Amino acid sequence: MLNKKLNAKLLWMQFEDVLAPRLGLTVKERAVYSYLLRHSLVAGKLRLQFAVMALARTLGLSIGAARQAVRRLDELGALRVLKRSKTGHLAEMRLPEKIRAIRLGKNGASGATGAAGEPPASTLETTDFLKTWALRKAIHDRERGACFYCLRRTPANVHGLDHVVPRVRFGRNSYRNLVSCCLECNSRKGDRAAPDFLRTLYRLGRLTAAELDTRLRALKGLAAGKLRPSPGF
Ligand SMILES: [Zn+2]
Repeated sequence: MLNKKLNAKLLWMQFEDVLAPRLGLTVKERAVYSYLLRHSLVAGKLRLQFAVMALARTLGLSIGAARQAVRRLDELGALRVLKRSKTGHLAEMRLPEKIRAIRLGKNGASGATGAAGEPPASTLETTDFLKTWALRKAIHDRERGACFYCLRRTPANVHGLDHVVPRVRFGRNSYRNLVSCCLECNSRKGDRAAPDFLRTLYRLGRLTAAELDTRLRALKGLAAGKLRPSPGF
């Protein structure tokens, strides 16, 4: 249960005025977030158990769209999926004011801080590119819609960000360590070293020898800071 009484009016205003526009939520993501909020925080609970299939049916979405929306809300930090199983998801909801990416001031909507992201060039090296939606988008834009690993082109909404050096091995959230990739590569790579994963793709026939060569070189370029997100992100 939540400790303090929820201010529903403020919550609603934060959601509509700040959270949704600032995170760039789609109509479907808004619907999913709003529904989950209703059955968690608004009902006085921080955590919520739900089945994607039932969620999809209630909102009139396809199961794939509902699943994708939950995944993206998780990626944006609007909620945290704690457990996934056949019976459903267990998620912990975040109040808009607790979502790092939007950083509300004490007064709610009016206290929102300035432009999302856009650090000066001098701080590029220290910027946490998972911090805001705009910064994440800058990494996706750099790869121009192609998976960094397998080069496959997939729609932007089915791309994820991957740590080349996994977080468990202390990989940073730097533009030198984050790449945009397809969800298949994202889940298959796991905690493996990126060069090994690229060689696996080559053995599976997903990359040609020439492509493997360019990807291995791209990895080196990335670590060396040569693959900067475009200016003005
Ligand atoms: Zn891929």
